[in-house]
Amino acid sequence: MRLSKYLLPTLREVPTEAEIPSHQLMLRAGLIRKLASGVYGYLPLGLKVLRNVEKIIRDGMDNHDAQELLMSALLPKEMFEVSGRWEVFGPEMFRLKDRGDRDFCLGPTHEEIFTDTVKSNIRSYKQLPVTLYQIQTKYRDERRPRFGVIRSREFIMKDAYSFDRDETGLDASYKNMYEAYKEIFDKMELDYLIVDADSGAMGGSGSQEFMVKSDIGEDTIAYCEKCGYCANEEKAACVCKTETSDAPMAEVNKVHTPNAGTIEDVTSFMGKTPQDFAKTIIYKADDRFVAVMVRGDREVNDTKVVNAIGGAIEFDLAPLDDLVRITNAKAGFAGPVGLDIDLYVDNEVAAMKNMIVGANETDYHLENVNIGRDFTATVTGDFRNIEEGDLCPICKEEKIKTCRGIEVGHIFKLGTKYSKAMECTFLDENGKEQVPIMGCYGIGVSRCLAAIIEQNSDENGIIWPMSVAPYHVIVVPVNVKDETQKQMAEDIYNALKSKGIEAVIDDRNERAGVKFNDAELIGIPLRITVGKKAADGIVEFKVRKTGEMCELSVAEAITKVEELVK
Ligand code: ATP
Ligand code: MG
Repeated sequence: MRLSKYLLPTLREVPTEAEIPSHQLMLRAGLIRKLASGVYGYLPLGLKVLRNVEKIIRDGMDNHDAQELLMSALLPKEMFEVSGRWEVFGPEMFRLKDRGDRDFCLGPTHEEIFTDTVKSNIRSYKQLPVTLYQIQTKYRDERRPRFGVIRSREFIMKDAYSFDRDETGLDASYKNMYEAYKEIFDKMELDYLIVDADSGAMGGSGSQEFMVKSDIGEDTIAYCEKCGYCANEEKAACVCKTETSDAPMAEVNKVHTPNAGTIEDVTSFMGKTPQDFAKTIIYKADDRFVAVMVRGDREVNDTKVVNAIGGAIEFDLAPLDDLVRITNAKAGFAGPVGLDIDLYVDNEVAAMKNMIVGANETDYHLENVNIGRDFTATVTGDFRNIEEGDLCPICKEEKIKTCRGIEVGHIFKLGTKYSKAMECTFLDENGKEQVPIMGCYGIGVSRCLAAIIEQNSDENGIIWPMSVAPYHVIVVPVNVKDETQKQMAEDIYNALKSKGIEAVIDDRNERAGVKFNDAELIGIPLRITVGKKAADGIVEFKVRKTGEMCELSVAEAITKVEELVK
């Protein structure tokens, strides 16, 4: 490829909308362009990397006997009605109607469609097990699209579904995908963790996420250095002191706290700490309201609360006017006493004595409030996020550490939820109808690009690992007006291409500085510079990742590229 002809609109400025390095670099290096919030197109260089990432995934899946097919993105409502997910997806699903007023959606995921495919095409146990996959565009109207292709509304996913005769079969299919994923993410040279995402969080291997370690990751991972426990914060159980302190209950006291904006303000005003405070947070779960109490220095875990209330399609902080109506007070003064909605109390709060809470009256708090005497919990349980320093829920010996991660893959033992609902069956050895047991396995293909950049960049730009690099090597004639330089660069470029190496030549009539900056920005792993020493048959060889530079003869340089690409 010749840069003089390449659609490569690199940017010098950091686009203001981009908050994280990968998003900034994908825009600056001319990989993607935004069309609408969470909707991106790929320019030639970006598409080249995307195809390389897809190839790694495809090879990994094919090596593990998964079969590729391709389903439509435009899906009829009926498919999702049988499973109940037309409702469940709520506003995250892009819905539309055809000219005959029939309902469709743009597929957010394809469990139903693959189950239907197996239902119509597989009859006998002899055809099982089978794992089917596709690499295809998905649509989700995310509440908060951000970080470029990390959380977008249109994105590319590899989704796979396994169908087995029994649990043992599912275990084997799951293990097979687990191995495929390790191979795939190793090939991408990602530094990742395999995290337990099992619902109980207490062991089991029903669901695991592949998390790329990164400070900008949206997920928090809790891990134990002693026993190896590693779980998504969403799922990680908290074990805390649950024995109630035997301090005597003091009399409730209403305290005027007019200028106390934060829990720190309120507690320090009273000579106490946030650990003495129990905060009450009002949520809207679909059509109803619930209150959740956690200690003043803790955070509510939405997933745990949603599970406890039996599921909710939409779960968020109550809108301000509802909050005011429910608590009879401005925001910041909610409390459990006299509240007449369901109250979910975290174990830690249930063990507190003489706590400080909001008074449900503007500018007032109550102190010495006690559960049982002054209010009762609808449900007591684990409703908070695990934190660094908490005891490991498994070995209960070591303190938990946390780090952030980007979820690039998810493997999941589904069971018969979809096959049962959609009446997908096969005949066993005895001619009896059975329901296949399913697993599902996703990889965020476009998200992988961003995750790779998050782990492979510096102040000058992207540093592609060889396995995904759009081109292995860039040949840069310093001065294209110098015939010797120009000819030598062309010869090297052609020699590399003939050896099957992905090469690009910067044949633009630009200053050397501009060319070097662009080469660094777009992250080509190797650079051969043809400059003044061309006349002596000498070129400069540079490795993007290490910055290592040396002078070599043309033949040596070509051999070195071959070695490093292999
Ligand atoms: P998340 O928790 O990040 O929303 P999810 O649990 O909704 O992910 P899955 O339904 O398991 O994701 O989808 C499989 C994979 O698709 C994820 O592991 C992730 O890598 C990718 N993915 C999911 N949502 C998006 C999105 N909005 N933009 C880009 N990639 C996504
Ligand atoms: Mg999601």
